[in-house]
Amino acid sequence: MADRARPRLLILGGGAGGLELAGALAAEGSYAVTLVDQSPAHLWKPRLHEFAAGTVDSMLSEISFYTLARLRGFRFEQGSVARIDRQGRRVQLRPILDLDGRERAAARTLSYDVCVVALGGITADFGTVGVAQHAIRLDGREDADAFRSLFTGLMIHARETREPARVVIVGSGATGTELAAHLRLAETAFPGEDPANMAPRLHLTILEAAPQLMPGADDPLRHSVLERLRTLAVEVATGVRVTAVRADAVQAEDGRVWPSDLTVWAAGLIGNPVLRQLGDFELDGKGRIRVDARLRSTVDEAVYVMGDAASLTPVGDNRPLAPTAQVASQQAAYLARGLPRRLKGHRVDPFVYRDRGQLISLASAGTVGLLGLLDRRDLLVGGRFAIAAYHALQRRHQWAVLGPVRGSVAIFADAVGPTHGPALKLHG
Ligand SMILES: Cc1cc2nc3c(=O)[nH]c(=O)nc-3n(C[C@H](O)[C@H](O)[C@H](O)COP(=O)(O)OP(=O)(O)OC[C@H]3O[C@@H](n4cnc5c(N)ncnc54)[C@H](O)[C@@H]3O)c2cc1C
Repeated sequence: MADRARPRLLILGGGAGGLELAGALAAEGSYAVTLVDQSPAHLWKPRLHEFAAGTVDSMLSEISFYTLARLRGFRFEQGSVARIDRQGRRVQLRPILDLDGRERAAARTLSYDVCVVALGGITADFGTVGVAQHAIRLDGREDADAFRSLFTGLMIHARETREPARVVIVGSGATGTELAAHLRLAETAFPGEDPANMAPRLHLTILEAAPQLMPGADDPLRHSVLERLRTLAVEVATGVRVTAVRADAVQAEDGRVWPSDLTVWAAGLIGNPVLRQLGDFELDGKGRIRVDARLRSTVDEAVYVMGDAASLTPVGDNRPLAPTAQVASQQAAYLARGLPRRLKGHRVDPFVYRDRGQLISLASAGTVGLLGLLDRRDLLVGGRFAIAAYHALQRRHQWAVLGPVRGSVAIFADAVGPTHGPALKLHG
């Protein structure tokens, strides 16, 4: 319903950042908020590897945008964003097609006074031969479903033939390491008829181009993760520059070859390709829209950009903020405070990112992390404390998305569910 008494705020993308912002601004009330997403349901992307492995275990795994819009008081418009007409302050959505490619709903146009681009990013293949054809990249729900289906088939085949399945993961960041640990856990879902015969059914390898596991991570965390991966019998090879992915193997520059039944490409992130088509925005080398210190696009003050879609280099740093949910969530909180202030003509301070640290969940091998203390990442945590910290982080997301009352109910339901524990982690 039109609400011309208030300025129209259009949020493009209901992921980790966009959805938190929509809920907060709808509750605040200064703007008539419309959220656009191509999917009908919000999926918490940091859990994609758990969807892929089949180990996901939280009530907030996936939740309908239509339901959330009703609960939180914003409007939801399902559709794929094509372009932003900056002069006319309109966003064009593509037509909706059915499975046969027939048009079911015509292209639409949505008008705005303020627009926030929160369209996320994708995994980059750096032009590596065969990645598009033979590897899975975990960028969306469909990728996780495709992986899960292939993995299930492989594990059943391995159980029947007693030939281990080989999964190779390229990239040893948080996604690669956590996926490996969750696959080891998922393996237990395929027991043989003879429990005494526990021959390994799954061979897991992580390949990393950098000289060390988890490039960019602090040493204590890296060592702890490596130790835990060893206990899970995950082979780790570093200094491996992959040049090609084939249907049955991964090939490195130095000629080495890793046979692979299923390859996951988890090396590096770039901006969503749609950002290039949106308009005349200034992009960085990774295809993300450059923003100023208040998250406004450098070419238009009415268009804000946040999360993985934004390129913001903090003063004194030499590279943009990493694409993490931690950044997206802090930017959502910042805009939720700043946009109403701006409307009232108040001064809005620049965005300041606070690095809260890095937590890695390695399924049965536990959770480990470095938490920021006095703005430094200097507290290595493990055991129950790390698990509690890890859980606390997704609790924040649940609160932001569902609001305090429903958020508390969801958290309680998670806690008493047959399996429990959310899976929002931080990683830098
Ligand atoms: C497997 C995995 C594990 C991760 N683990 C962590 C972690 O532990 N900690 C952490 O901090 N970060 C983690 N991340 C990174 C984190 O998920 C992202 O940084 C975060 O989701 C970015 O939020 P966002 O709002 O910018 O974009 P996203 O959450 O990606 O949301 C983008 C939204 O835009 C929608 N969209 C895309 N294109 C269009 C279009 N053309 N039209 C309409 N809608 C569109 C999508 O459907 C989606 O809902 C992980 C990422 C992956 C893939």
